[in-house]
Amino acid sequence: MRILVVSTAVGPIGQGRGGGVEVTIGSLVRGLADRGHQLMVLAPEGSEPCGCPMGAVAGQLQPPWQQQPRDAPVLQPPDGVLANLWREAWALQGRHHVVLNLGYDWLPLWLGPCFTTPVLHLISMGSLSRAMDDVIGDVAVAHPGRLAFHSRSQMESFGIRHGVVVGNGFDLNTYRFVQEPEPLLGWVGRIAPEKGLEDAAAAAALLHMPLAVWGRLEDPAYKNRVTADHPACDFRWQGFLPPVRLRQELGRCAALLMTPRWQEAFGNGVVEAMACGVPVVAYRRGGPQETVDHGLTGFLVEPGRIGDLAAMVERAVRLDRHRIRRRCQERFGIAPFAQRLEEWILAAVGPDTLRSRC
Ligand code: UDP
Repeated sequence: MRILVVSTAVGPIGQGRGGGVEVTIGSLVRGLADRGHQLMVLAPEGSEPCGCPMGAVAGQLQPPWQQQPRDAPVLQPPDGVLANLWREAWALQGRHHVVLNLGYDWLPLWLGPCFTTPVLHLISMGSLSRAMDDVIGDVAVAHPGRLAFHSRSQMESFGIRHGVVVGNGFDLNTYRFVQEPEPLLGWVGRIAPEKGLEDAAAAAALLHMPLAVWGRLEDPAYKNRVTADHPACDFRWQGFLPPVRLRQELGRCAALLMTPRWQEAFGNGVVEAMACGVPVVAYRRGGPQETVDHGLTGFLVEPGRIGDLAAMVERAVRLDRHRIRRRCQERFGIAPFAQRLEEWILAAVGPDTLRSRC
């Protein structure tokens, strides 16, 4: 198939604004290209290469939904890159069998049915806006096969029970395995309230262990608040590292904490840590409750229970790091992810569309 992928409009690929979507695009392109498909990616100007031909699109970045209240209206900035991306996708659709939307935005979901080429949506976050819930609900009724989600709990946050769940995939050979970690806890994510850094800080303080924090500073006031509220936490701020460098660093940690306040759709950091042999202690919420094998690759804790987080870290550091990495390889490689994506696309597009565009 010739597949046109449209990236998120919140930022150029490689700068961290797009969060997990930036890693997902790399895996998706690699995996589908390995299966013989031809891909092209449209992304905001300034994006890093992602392994296939790309179209760079200019315009003002889209404000992310997770920074807005639940009842917020749909925003369209003047000369917005979101509208420009989808104008370009409209122009290029005839040369492709399918358009794959990776942005969590209202416009492509609303516009998709008007395209002559099927537009499929890989939804990257859980329910957090009424406008988005409505438009995702509309697609779920009219074209249910055109939606896919990263985890079951993410899908169910939209009230959808029987949709397509594709998980996520990672180039596991690029993650450095470390057998002997440092006495260091890790935390990975955009530094923003929904990611719940404060709970990890409280647990690290209880354990008297330093906490390395990797991620883009999205909300400086939030970072100041967390720092001021947790004077006993020894924060080791690492800034945002390019994904390939992060993969060399994560293995230093004795354990990774994942303490989201929101319905984390997948939580790439969980799998990326496990790829380095690092056990994960995560809240039993969203994607991590499906990716952590309790007692094997880490432990799950009821959200908000700081004492339990600390207690589980003490057990997690005794887990076998080789087994963690092996389990991760069994579950989260690029090849099975690409196969699930291909099955989803073929089922949604149908043989007639494929034949008519050959
Ligand atoms: N990340 C990175 N460098 C950093 C911190 C994070 O490349 O310094 C990547 C990380 O590898 C992960 C992504 O940012 O793949 C964050 O995705 P996640 O699903 O954890 O959260 P999101 O930001 O999408 O809510």
